[in-house]
Amino acid sequence: MSVLWDDDSPHDECGVVGIVAPGRDISRLAFFALHALQHRGQESAGIAVADDGQVMVQRDLGLVGAVFDEPSLRSLSGHSAIGHVRYSTTGSNKWENAQPVTRNRGTGLVALGHNGNLTNTDALREQITNDPQPLQATTDSELIAALLAREPGSLLDAVVGVIGRLVGAFSAVALSEYELVAFRDAHGVRPLVIGKLEGGYCVASETCALDQIGATLVREVRPGEAVRLTATGLESRQALTPAISRMCVFEHIYFARPDSLLDGRNVWEQRRAMGIELAGEAPIDADMVVGLPDSGTPAAIGYAFASGIPYSEAVVRNRYVGRSFIQPDQELRKSGVKLKFNPLREIIDGKRLIVVDDSIVRGTTTQQVVAMLREAGAREVHMRISSPPITWPCFYGIDMPSRGELVAARHSIDEVARLTGATTLAHLSLEGLQRAIGAPADRFCRACFTGEYPIPVPDSSIKLRFEDAATQPAEAQRK
Ligand code: AMP
Repeated sequence: MSVLWDDDSPHDECGVVGIVAPGRDISRLAFFALHALQHRGQESAGIAVADDGQVMVQRDLGLVGAVFDEPSLRSLSGHSAIGHVRYSTTGSNKWENAQPVTRNRGTGLVALGHNGNLTNTDALREQITNDPQPLQATTDSELIAALLAREPGSLLDAVVGVIGRLVGAFSAVALSEYELVAFRDAHGVRPLVIGKLEGGYCVASETCALDQIGATLVREVRPGEAVRLTATGLESRQALTPAISRMCVFEHIYFARPDSLLDGRNVWEQRRAMGIELAGEAPIDADMVVGLPDSGTPAAIGYAFASGIPYSEAVVRNRYVGRSFIQPDQELRKSGVKLKFNPLREIIDGKRLIVVDDSIVRGTTTQQVVAMLREAGAREVHMRISSPPITWPCFYGIDMPSRGELVAARHSIDEVARLTGATTLAHLSLEGLQRAIGAPADRFCRACFTGEYPIPVPDSSIKLRFEDAATQPAEAQRK
């Protein structure tokens, strides 16, 4: 789900879950599955349940554990449930933007949870201009729900009727009184997996949510597929001609939980392999390899293994502080970084460190971390990043700022090293990244590294996101 571009916040990531299991404690299952997906969104959480005859929803701002308590879970009973967690972004912290969103469908409500980002929202909005129900939220997800509400037939028919009109990335779950349907865009940009659990079937953004509720992985929702889940099986319709699969490569680098499987492969192992590749591509003599917890840890372990330089923890992360990235402005972001990490001075003092992180976006984290490690006595801080430089914004649902804010879009690697105070800085190459993931490059969306967008990005307002950088020389933008 993303916030529409006329709002002041254009981007976010999300997690979705859907469960059909009559007789089971459906809302509790959804609650625990959402808990496992909390890393995909910390701004709001919601669950919709269907009992024959009605759909009930509870959603609110905050973490899953804050939004639901025993009484609220007990009151949400039914045979099916969908759930959603939403990523926090500036200015969009409105209750109305929490999901699942609902629309009246004549006979009852349709509820929708969406991960991804549509790129033809202007065109879609025109299709519902005469709709008697006003839009409540400022999200593209509510547009999908509004379109579904206008379609006749079963919910599966409605999804099949609407899906071809949606341009962009979407992995979504829809719920009516009697049906739960999961669907995915033709490129399969965001993950969505199907699981089997006692008494029914489920879908979730990541396999870690299936593990959490005791479900076993059946398969992925196929690109362009709409699938109705029932207690006893799956009814599949290939609603769109599947395009070449373009799974977001950043899911592998950063976003997915390391214990999840993406395309059948364990993410932790892929990240460790990124570190091994990085050690081969960018070796340096040092006393220890340090991972920036938690996202840099597997790659740091891989780097240490391949280089023979000992791995050590040197930074302790306060797990009760939200991600620095999601703070509303640059100043808060800076203090967020300080809140998040504390150095182990006794380990660091006098040492030459190789510090592995998964990515650099604005450069804020790197700058703060380098300063913190130097203050703690590090003699050298060699930053090693287990992904290529991010030079293009994401339009398909990952929180990446405009080009002007992406430090690598405006500066060469050497300049970023100087700006951040790192002794040296090196990134993993795209080729090394692909080797580590173990799948061919044309199976991924890598637009944040290459600027090659596999799905059209037509909304004129979206193009504004490039404007910041338009004044930069093309040469510098590409470095
Ligand atoms: P920055 O400080 O802006 O350079 O952000 C880089 C840091 O944020 C890295 O440590 C990443 O682990 C993390 N990061 C990268 N992408 C995202 C994202 N989309 N959402 C939240 N954190 C991110």
